[in-house]
Amino acid sequence: MYTLSHNELLGWLEERDEAALAPLFARADRVRSEHVGGAVHLRGLIEFSSYCGRLCAYCGLRAPRRVPRYRMTREEVLRCARKATQLGFGTVVMQSGEDFGIAAEWVADIIRTIKRETPLAVTLSLGERRPEEFRLWREAGADRYLLRFETSDAELYARIHPARPDETSNRIALLRQLRDLGYEAGSGVMVGIPGQSYQTLARDLELFSELDLDMIGIGPFLPHPETPLGAPDAPHAGAGQVPADELMVLKTVALARLLCPDANIPSTTALATINRVDGRERGLQSGANVVMPNLTPHPYRQMYEIYPGKACADEEIEQCAHCVRGRIARIGRRVGSGPGARAHACAVAQ
Ligand code: SAH
Ligand code: SF4
Repeated sequence: MYTLSHNELLGWLEERDEAALAPLFARADRVRSEHVGGAVHLRGLIEFSSYCGRLCAYCGLRAPRRVPRYRMTREEVLRCARKATQLGFGTVVMQSGEDFGIAAEWVADIIRTIKRETPLAVTLSLGERRPEEFRLWREAGADRYLLRFETSDAELYARIHPARPDETSNRIALLRQLRDLGYEAGSGVMVGIPGQSYQTLARDLELFSELDLDMIGIGPFLPHPETPLGAPDAPHAGAGQVPADELMVLKTVALARLLCPDANIPSTTALATINRVDGRERGLQSGANVVMPNLTPHPYRQMYEIYPGKACADEEIEQCAHCVRGRIARIGRRVGSGPGARAHACAVAQ
């Protein structure tokens, strides 16, 4: 493992000269190759409910937005999972808003069915749920849970991610709970949140390493005009404000790879959204080793509008899978087979 001091992290994060950054990207790519190899694992994303009870200031699914919402049926979710197997994906990621209209047992039954009928790994991303629900889903066979802590700055977090009434929101504590239940634990941050400073982003990176995360998702903050953080008068960290641009995301991905050499790190759709030409490839060449093609059927996919203008939103699923495979092949990498668990987790399990 590489140790990078806080000042070294800051130095790389503040560097904007592409030539000066070339050694960082080369090193991250080499570390990725040595620790997780050339395979790119495909995880099929199923956005199965757009209902959300929360007030996150950054997200288009926040509760007060008056937009049409949907919940997929059990059969629709299972059809997506079968499609994932046909397309050769190793994992499905079931994601939703924080929808307490969905019964925990309904989710558990779907997990059991997927695990019984397919060889897929199941990743969940349903937000902050109760400990007994996490346990039920783990016992039903869920393998992984994604819960981004969004920012390590407690004050900024409280401002952009208001707690539910009578509860605190402590995603870091929940990640530890998930780990104790035997999940592979994934987290991550948005880069360029209004009010996010370089110091904070350096601290986010240190926290990835401290939490020994199995998966790390890093994408740019994309302003949604109908949210408080997408408004022109959103807060700003002044001269120290982290920009939400491609270079900044790539630097953060590369540093995450150096600090967490064997983690699974996706080249995110949000990154592909700010560079539609080759954002995916550049992520994969800066330390990432996972891509999450979208399996959500139309018209739901367009309705799951976390941020506007999402890359690949209009593509057919087969087209999307084909396009992703082409991009992977063109940069000399190959699609991984099997569930693609964290190598380190496998070693411990055997
Ligand atoms: N409700 C779940 C999962 C869906 S949101 C949860 O909150 O964990 C998944 C992720 O989308 C969030 O963790 C956040 O990092 C990202 N996201 C939300 N709004 C965004 C925006 N405007 N720009 C970029 N990413 C965003
Ligand atoms: Fe809901 Fe997740 Fe969006 Fe927050 S980020 S509003 S919890 S979907």
